[in-house]
Amino acid sequence: MTASATEIVYRLPQERRLVTDLPGPRSIELGARRSAAVAAGVSSILPSYAADGDGGVLVDVDGNSLIDLGSGIAVTSVGSANPAVAAAVGGQAAHLIHTCFMVAPYDSYVAVAEKLNALTPGEHDKRTALFNSGAEAVENAVKIARRATGRDAVVAFDHAYHGRTNLTMALTAKNMPYKAHFGPFTPEVYRMPMSYPFRDQFGSDGKAAAEHAISAMTTQIGPDSLAAIIIEPIQGEGGFIVPAPGFLTTLAQWCRENGVVFIADEVQAGFARTGTWFACEEEGVVPDLITMAKGIAGGMPLSAVTGRAELLDAVHASGLGGTYGGNPVACAAALAAIEQMETLDLAGRARHIGETITSVLSETADELAAQGKPVIGEIRGRGAMMAIELVRPGGREADPALTKAVAAACHAQGVIVLTCGTYGNVIRLLPPLVIGDDLLREGLGVLSDAITSLA
Ligand SMILES: *Cc1c(COP(=O)(O)O)cnc(C)c1O
Repeated sequence: MTASATEIVYRLPQERRLVTDLPGPRSIELGARRSAAVAAGVSSILPSYAADGDGGVLVDVDGNSLIDLGSGIAVTSVGSANPAVAAAVGGQAAHLIHTCFMVAPYDSYVAVAEKLNALTPGEHDKRTALFNSGAEAVENAVKIARRATGRDAVVAFDHAYHGRTNLTMALTAKNMPYKAHFGPFTPEVYRMPMSYPFRDQFGSDGKAAAEHAISAMTTQIGPDSLAAIIIEPIQGEGGFIVPAPGFLTTLAQWCRENGVVFIADEVQAGFARTGTWFACEEEGVVPDLITMAKGIAGGMPLSAVTGRAELLDAVHASGLGGTYGGNPVACAAALAAIEQMETLDLAGRARHIGETITSVLSETADELAAQGKPVIGEIRGRGAMMAIELVRPGGREADPALTKAVAAACHAQGVIVLTCGTYGNVIRLLPPLVIGDDLLREGLGVLSDAITSLA
């Protein structure tokens, strides 16, 4: 336990406690109402309805206390009802909930922009624009890159996830469930091979993997037509794929030499999640534009594009904006959440969480191998963004059925884990950064037992 963690005071008992079967009777009742009222295309991972949350637990409407290893998809890094964030939200809401920054500006928008300009990598002059969702930030980063370069084409990578709007669906790689039957998609989006050390022919040679992609970009698009490449420094929905060292730096270098805007999509990996403010810092990559959302505001909807002043300022007046972008309540929440990350050293906590997850799951992988069931193909990730890829024993063939069964077993026992991956065979762990060690270890124990019994 690090010193900082002792400063965290929890409101709810930090325990796994099941008082009904899951889902309990109240959740079942809500589920029935939901089916008659909510669009079928919107689905939930858990059958239980949430009522309260704090630190590393979510409590459902039946009083079950579940261990949260998902953080609402990497959002509630400071906890699902961080007291400082809640106070900031309440305080701001008592004065101004909305003015629209394009109508009557306010100071917290400016303060968030200053903060993001300071926190993001690089010493160059920066500007920031605020929006509501990750997809909206990505859309705007592409708008900015196109306007600033006067070029049309955009490159995204295999396994990429950038959102669900029309442009971001085009950038996203996976057909089902994100894109199927939702086309046609925007033109001038090109897909390039990603470094995927566990599966591609380049393995740990990131430079060779990047040169392969660069050769394809040169021959298929031509740098003169290419506005931007967008890449997640660690891919999220695609399977928590960590590109081999040298991949990002080689691509960034090529972009610099060819006037192509390098956009790091840090929507999932950013904000202390991987043990540094931004995942691209690991290799010293300085993106031209960074997109941020998820963990930025303690659970309030806010997103941002931060980057080189000459790129953002190339856009004509009123070319960027939106009714709610940088809403005052969301900005107050962001300032409080960022302060919590600093005072509680949540980046340090993220590194500690990563070490714990790696050591527990490595032991499980070794035990499974000793029992002749080597189903954990790889443990990967960084900090509190960790995953395991499940395979058929003795090879690399993906095992999505096992993955689904393991996740369901964890849920039934009160541990929230999420799955991901192009092949549906990755279990990802995104605990709140304020989770205590004992609770984390208990959750990992349930996961290890589930894999061992189902393998
Ligand atoms: C979640 C995510 C998005 C989309 O964010 P929304 O807020 O859901 O629109 C974009 N990029 C990455 C890397 C993400 O993980």
